[in-house]
Amino acid sequence: MKSLQFLGDSRVAVVDIPRPKPGPGQMLVKVVVSALCGSEMHSFYSPGVKPGGGHEFAGVVEDPNGQAGFSKGDRVAVHVVTGCGVCRHCRAGNEIFCETLAFPPNSHSEYSTPWAHHCLKLPDDIDWETGVLIGGDAMGVAYHLSRRVGVNAHDTVAVFGLGPIGLGIVSLWSFLGARVIGVDFSAWRREFAEKKLGCWKTVDAGKKGVVDKLRKLTGREGPDICLEATGKPAPVTQCFEAVRKGGKIGIVGEQGQATFNPSDGLIHKEVNVYGAWYFRLQEFPGMVELCRRGLKPKQVITHRLPLEEAQKGYDLMAAQQCGKVVFRP
Ligand SMILES: [Zn+2]
Repeated sequence: MKSLQFLGDSRVAVVDIPRPKPGPGQMLVKVVVSALCGSEMHSFYSPGVKPGGGHEFAGVVEDPNGQAGFSKGDRVAVHVVTGCGVCRHCRAGNEIFCETLAFPPNSHSEYSTPWAHHCLKLPDDIDWETGVLIGGDAMGVAYHLSRRVGVNAHDTVAVFGLGPIGLGIVSLWSFLGARVIGVDFSAWRREFAEKKLGCWKTVDAGKKGVVDKLRKLTGREGPDICLEATGKPAPVTQCFEAVRKGGKIGIVGEQGQATFNPSDGLIHKEVNVYGAWYFRLQEFPGMVELCRRGLKPKQVITHRLPLEEAQKGYDLMAAQQCGKVVFRP
């Protein structure tokens, strides 16, 4: 079958590999749509040949492999993080805290073998691309973050970073009624957020005075909520500086170190800070319902490419000239 391979140093190829066989608890799924995740860029940039990535996908069950509740032909989206299923965290529905996390195999391929427990059946009125986004990072993280932090229609929210996850946040939180300010270096992404996703205003992260601009846009008080989705240290600091007194901060951008001033940024302002990683299986029906009420997760998709043109997708991500990129294997 066709499958993506990282060749190292920002190059990818499509190679022929054997079709995988589902192991215990897994099913064979024919991939229909597989989305490019920003987390793959580490593999893309680094040297050396690696098997292809991809973990956000939806497809058709080709072989249910005896898994209860599934039949050949079922349409499914795949939740990426799988726990052991029996520890206290898994029992509580928090599989992302499990000590033995596993991730579905490479999905930038014709077939993949996800665990049946993490396959989410797609209702007939949810199309493939919507299914990928609400079963994956772009809308899944945005939705989980909205539930963690809590958002009101009267909130003004600054979103630092308009990559695929930041754009998902802009799209969802605007839909939920909040007034969203997008902060990013990329003029392309700022314009996309404003023109297509309902972003109220944007601020150029590359110019001086980002915090001051956020204050000016919010009557000098600062945003009610600041969300960090860049994975860079400076915006973390800016979140603490910009957020209004008594406001909230949500952090989803993965990174090792960042600094903030506890007295000025947290203690005296009495700010609440939330980390959020990945959505829970039980949050999927809520996202389906929002789609039925008019949320259009597909708005964040800017490029649809056959797998053979995957190089173009990664190049666009590297240049920050795209929203979400999806492949059709
Ligand atoms: Zn577990």
